[in-house]
Amino acid sequence: MALIVQKFGGTSVGSTERIKNVAKRVARWRAQGHSIILVPSAMAGETNRLIALAKEISPSPDPRELDVIAATGEQVTIGLLAMAMHAEGLKAKSFTGPQVGVLTDSTFTKARILKIDQDRIRQALAEGNVVVVAGFQGADEKGNITTLGRGGSDTSAVALAAAMKADECQIYTDVDGVYTTDPRVVPEARKLDTITFEEMLEMASLGSKVLQIRSVEFAGKYKVKLRVLSSFQDEGEGTLITVEERGNMEQPVISGIAFNRDEAKLTVLGVPDRPGIAYQILGPIADASIDVDMIIQNIGQYDTTDFSFTVNRSDYNKAFAILQAVKEKIGARDITGDTTTCKVSAVGVGMRSHPGVASKMFGALAKEGINLQMISTSEIKISVVIEEKYLELAVRVLHKAFGLEKPQKATLGLTGRGETDIITPS
Ligand code: ADP
Ligand code: ASP
Ligand code: MG
Repeated sequence: MALIVQKFGGTSVGSTERIKNVAKRVARWRAQGHSIILVPSAMAGETNRLIALAKEISPSPDPRELDVIAATGEQVTIGLLAMAMHAEGLKAKSFTGPQVGVLTDSTFTKARILKIDQDRIRQALAEGNVVVVAGFQGADEKGNITTLGRGGSDTSAVALAAAMKADECQIYTDVDGVYTTDPRVVPEARKLDTITFEEMLEMASLGSKVLQIRSVEFAGKYKVKLRVLSSFQDEGEGTLITVEERGNMEQPVISGIAFNRDEAKLTVLGVPDRPGIAYQILGPIADASIDVDMIIQNIGQYDTTDFSFTVNRSDYNKAFAILQAVKEKIGARDITGDTTTCKVSAVGVGMRSHPGVASKMFGALAKEGINLQMISTSEIKISVVIEEKYLELAVRVLHKAFGLEKPQKATLGLTGRGETDIITPS
């Protein structure tokens, strides 16, 4: 008998009807003798509604109070789920994050989990309960309620699985696994049977919101068996995130295309070309806790150069204001900004052993007349910043250029089969 952590996303608990379905599903697992820790998100749209409410009172809400508000969404679903399970004749008990000792740091709205107390959960499991723990939330040392950033219930589930040494962590969502790209943008996208942690980390960090990036980091670090599955289908093995790479022969060059609409570009024009300038520009940006993504500095001409970088769109106004002050200090000519950019990336561990990926990617985009504003590469990814209006086109074109719609031999020829066994309820 296994201990399984099952996370259900917002759509999967989006109505009382769906909550009842989750309870029925859990009943089948319990009938097989498995122990279950259930980690729901808030009902679909609820977290957005709560944040919007807070913003009606204050356009930039106090982060501590915002977390107090946002954390309530999950408190509703844990109670409803526990009741739905009682109706199925199951023993079940709900707990908020703080109640089961989910200890986080104090970075309100994007806190990190530091520790989880096992005692209360173990006790409730030993009493025969399905243990329902609110995702997305915890408390810091002082007992302040914290939340883990958007999509954070994934991380709650994986952290619980790690702390409790669960046999598997199953992420139930509205798609039946991880696809070669977002199936909402490319209907021909193909479900992957497996994807490596490394690739999933890149996909998540480059914008594929199917898993929150920290959940993948946690799973990799603590060796949690992590699987993405559909909450609407009873069949199917979903996608297993594995540590294994496929054999070189069978390795597809590109495993997926990720994208992020949330990019904004800032450029400091006419920057003096001398040591320390990048630090003078980005230092104040970092001090304001603004994450910088891509950075480009052009070749200097006549002792000056242009310096561009991208930030999350929600940080754009703040970053622009900071640069205005920096401009005076360093004697730059001007600041320009663009909030209609986006980032598209090709990801694959197979890139390591296959040259020519960048040229294929740039060629495919050039054929459609898509201008590349910025480029960045790492060992297993190539990202480009382009105009947002071309996003869907670029994703479709790249998906096709790398033949991702076709079944690839690689997904069949997996090594380490022992790792891929699925635990099924029947
Ligand atoms: P949940 O509410 O269950 O956490 P999310 O909306 O956070 O669900 O994540 C699931 C969504 O992620 C899918 O509906 C899909 O549109 C999107 N998505 C983006 N990239 C991918 C991908 N590569 N594979 C699967 N889904 C993806
Ligand atoms: N409810 C939170 C959100 O909408 C957490 C989650 O869904 O994972 O971001
Ligand atoms: Mg999510």
